[in-house]
Amino acid sequence: MPSPTRSRATAADRAAAGAHSMLRVTHGERIVDPSTGLTKLDLVRYYAEVSPWALPFLRGRPVYIRRAPQGIDAPMVFQQHTLDMKNLKGMDPALWPGHDPAISIETAEDLANVAQLDAVELHTWNSTAAAIAQPDRLVFDLDPGDDVDWPRMREAALLVRTMLQELGLQGWLKTTGGKGLHVYVPLRPEFGYPVAKAFTEAVVRHLATTLPQVFVAKSGPRNRKGRVFVDYLRNGWVQSTAEAFSARARPGLGVAMPVAWEQLDDVTHGAHWTITDATAYLRKRRRDPWAKYWTTPQSLPAAMRRLGWKPAQA
Ligand code: ATP
Ligand code: MN
Repeated sequence: MPSPTRSRATAADRAAAGAHSMLRVTHGERIVDPSTGLTKLDLVRYYAEVSPWALPFLRGRPVYIRRAPQGIDAPMVFQQHTLDMKNLKGMDPALWPGHDPAISIETAEDLANVAQLDAVELHTWNSTAAAIAQPDRLVFDLDPGDDVDWPRMREAALLVRTMLQELGLQGWLKTTGGKGLHVYVPLRPEFGYPVAKAFTEAVVRHLATTLPQVFVAKSGPRNRKGRVFVDYLRNGWVQSTAEAFSARARPGLGVAMPVAWEQLDDVTHGAHWTITDATAYLRKRRRDPWAKYWTTPQSLPAAMRRLGWKPAQA
């Protein structure tokens, strides 16, 4: 194991080589997470190191950021627009008519600039500039209710996987870095957001109807007690999801990590990985469990038929 000092120097070297703005980290000593003492420099270095893994998930996609200029115990800013901030690149304004553009992260330098602006979390849309109105994925957001232990979360995730398989769809699993898990279903961008969201809702309702002891489709703490709430609302237009490799603005600074279904038994929490151990894990990993995610765009009509569901006529 390299000593912390040594690995920090290595990270800084890489950062300097990969992104010039890294040389201008201001207030690096500022504490972002009082529970661990992790600083802004730790966070900026994490984003510099993780950029080769994170950029494929960010490129082409409108990004929102959660900034914590005074640390995660102080009020934070959930920022959906560039707001003309220096060093924030915007998406093409035509993609979101009538709005100041969302943020664009295309390069390691863009990511470093965002981190330099105290961004802890990175949230993205389900579509890219190539087809902004047609999502290229569905997101199932699994939230544990009160009294749901982790084995129950695992079971719920596997049931979602099975349900998707019954519909002829493959899903990919990631930790959220927070409390739960996300399942992504890569799509050919052929339907608009309203259809993608309504379809996801139909799947979630079917899960909740079939397995009411495990799942609940209605939000609200009372409904969730002892059960897993599967949120489909991430699938609407201009909604967002904490992206893979995003750090989370919660004590410990967990990160969202793509994992294999077969790994689920070894994953102990939504924040199983944090900014302190994620890149070491990634460097050691033998294979990328999401490699096929990028080359498996799926089509919905067969799944709709299997579910016995049709989009409402507009
Ligand atoms: P967990 O596993 O702990 O549930 P999560 O990422 O699924 O983590 P949240 O951090 O609660 O859950 O976020 C819920 C969703 O709402 C995210 O997908 C995020 O993009 C979006 N979101 C979060 N904060 C805001 C906000 N202030 N305004 C608009 N959308 C937000
Ligand atoms: Mn969630």
